[in-house]
Amino acid sequence: MINILVLPGDGIGKEVSDSAVKVLEAIGKKYEIAMDIDTEVFGGKSYEKYGEPCPNQLIERAKTMDAIFLGAVGHPKFDVLPSELRPEKGLLKLRKELDLYCNIRPVKYYSGSGSKIWREERVKNTNITFVRELSGGAYYGERYQGEDFAYDRIEYSKEQIERIVRKGFEVAQMGTKKLHSIDKSNVLATSKMWRACVNDMHKEYPEVEVIHQYVDNAAAQLMSNPEQFDVLLTENMFGDILSDQGAILSGSLGMLPSASLGGAVDLYEPGHGSAPDIMGKNLANPIGSILSIALMFKYTFDRPDIAEKVEKAVESVLQKGYCTMDISSPNCMVIGTKEMTEKVIVEIE
Ligand code: NAD
Repeated sequence: MINILVLPGDGIGKEVSDSAVKVLEAIGKKYEIAMDIDTEVFGGKSYEKYGEPCPNQLIERAKTMDAIFLGAVGHPKFDVLPSELRPEKGLLKLRKELDLYCNIRPVKYYSGSGSKIWREERVKNTNITFVRELSGGAYYGERYQGEDFAYDRIEYSKEQIERIVRKGFEVAQMGTKKLHSIDKSNVLATSKMWRACVNDMHKEYPEVEVIHQYVDNAAAQLMSNPEQFDVLLTENMFGDILSDQGAILSGSLGMLPSASLGGAVDLYEPGHGSAPDIMGKNLANPIGSILSIALMFKYTFDRPDIAEKVEKAVESVLQKGYCTMDISSPNCMVIGTKEMTEKVIVEIE
């Protein structure tokens, strides 16, 4: 029996979580996997029910689960709340309390997903897995803001670097055995330590090809030659920026899954926010959530065969010419959240 906690959250979070649950149920039926799927309010909805976006009891309950799926959090009506009660703070608290230090974000171009920015020939072979350090760097270092002077320190311990670099090698090992390590070691001390650590650990993974790239060059290469990247490993802030930049190669934010690993329990969520502008209209693209379920089977349940089945199902529906509004192009048939989910499930079955 596997235990999964679903936290729909706010806005389109509920709609895409419904899609994720339907796909989980279809997988359970096809592969005869017993599942206990539990649901709890989170973010703004949790504030409305319990007075806080991520109560401590929820964290304790989450730790007893095998995996968590989260839809999205946030809505303009909560913008007036004090910072610590806002839905987004609840998500940061959840990630921090679960000690999730490894963020995995695959960016793949699916034929038919209608990139409005790129010509298909340019991006059609894009298939990049971003492995981003999530617990250190500038976001968690000492900071100061005075009248005329401010600073944010980029801080990393060797241990923090080693554990994420190991994850990067492991992910590369599972795939094409090619690892791009992105740093700024011509300038930053943390990057020098990063590069030394990658070179040291490379001895344990001799079959993985390592390519070092400076972050400024990597940003340019992502746009000019995305095909060269397979696994892209980097620290927290570089990863935040590069993965959003890379996301546009896939056509829409709605296409992107993510996994946050390494802590008490793995957390899976689509790469987008709560999209209040389209909530409740059956317009949300559920593919980022469905592909997050694929990641759950790949990384938490060690079933890459099921992950691949789900990815192929998505690919097949898109290739048949179906799309949601965000990835529409002149020749495709636009369908809603529920209909897209049903079509993917038919392919899985
Ligand atoms: P957003 O990702 O919610 O939306 C950006 C744009 O992308 C919107 O036009 C939206 O309609 C579209 N979009 C997003 N997901 C889509 C999907 N699945 N299908 C089709 N279109 C989709 O970002 P935002 O507008 O900057 O933020 C809205 C709210 O979400 C804010 O409260 C923000 O704080 C929150 N947010 C939450 C998360 C999270 O829960 N992880 C991440 C980012 C933003």
